[in-house]
This record gives sequence, C-alpha cells and structure tokens, in this order.
Amino acid sequence: MDLRKYIRDVPDFPEPGIMFKDITPLLGNVKAFDYTISQLVDHYKNVDFDVIVPIESRGFLFGAPLARELGKGIVPVRKPGKLPANTHSVEYTLEYGSNTMEIHVDGVEKGQKALLMDDLLATGGTLAATAQLVEMAGGSVVDIGVIIELSFLEGRKNLAGYNVYSMIQF
Ligand code: AMP
Repeated sequence: MDLRKYIRDVPDFPEPGIMFKDITPLLGNVKAFDYTISQLVDHYKNVDFDVIVPIESRGFLFGAPLARELGKGIVPVRKPGKLPANTHSVEYTLEYGSNTMEIHVDGVEKGQKALLMDDLLATGGTLAATAQLVEMAGGSVVDIGVIIELSFLEGRKNLAGYNVYSMIQF
C-alpha cells in the first residue's frame, strides 16, 4: 500500500515557509491506519526492547497501538507541565526559539531498553532530546521509529549512534 496518498501537504503551517505533512487522512482511513500499525508490528516484533516511549502528541497515536500489539508498556514524553509526578526535562533549540520535553523520573527503570516513537523526523531535535531523557532516567535507546522522514533536513545527523526506522521518506 502506498501510504503517501494519505499524507496531505499543507503549505505555510504552522508558519510561513513550512510545508506541514498532515497525517489526518491516514488516521481517518481504516485500511491505511491498520496497514501502518501492521508494518510497525512486523518491523519490531523480533526486536528486543522493554518499553515504547512515544512523543506528545502525534507519537501517541502510533506508539499506543504498537505497544498493545507487542505487549509492551508505554512511557510518555510530554510537553512541560503535563506530567504530574517528578520529571527530568531537556530543553533543545528549534529553528526559531526553543522547546522543552519531559519524562517521569521513574518512567523508565534502570537498564530498560526503549523504542522511541514519533510521527515525523524533521531536524531530529525532538528525538535527540527524547533519547537524552531516556538516558537520564537510566534507560537505553534500542531504536527510533517514525512514520515520515523529511530526508532533506538530515535529521539522522542529529541522531548519530542511534538506529532510525522510517516508513515513508520525502
Ligand atoms: P524535529 O524536532 O525538527 O525533528 O521536529 C519533529 C517534530 O515536529 C515532530 O513531532 C513532528 O510532528 C513536528 N514536525 C516538524 N516538521 C514538521 C512538518 N513539516 N510536518 C509535520 N510535522 C512536523
């Protein structure tokens, strides 16, 4: 199945010059969404890891069904002020300004192996910060999975040393 048909380009969102890759057509199509999750299950069913760490918010949409299928727990990474207990925080720079992500201090146990999950890899800043959070909590990053990779932004350079799997490349 060609999933590209279900990714809509929205120019100038959320700001001028950005071509936003909108996954809502994929989410809204039962066959396309089922195919996406099945592909992820096939890719990760024989990989040795303990928890899925999905990134707020679109990462949750793919990380949760994958965790359910593979029988793994979920440790969410969220925007500041959303997680209720003690957190680790990492601030990172974006093209304009900065962003912060958080994880519960006791979310990942020492020595646990994590699979990071997001919808899209752009510059890699968000996933690099998430990898740092997992490592601060005492875990290790086994793999990083995304649905879409914007290859021209070379986000993998920001994730040197980690395995990255993407389903669709632009
Ligand atoms: P980055 O940290 O630059 O890799 O950005 C990744 C995060 O920003 C992901 O959580 C994406 O959902 C979002 N994002 C960045 N660029 C785009 C884009 N062109 N279309 C859709 N989402 C994007």
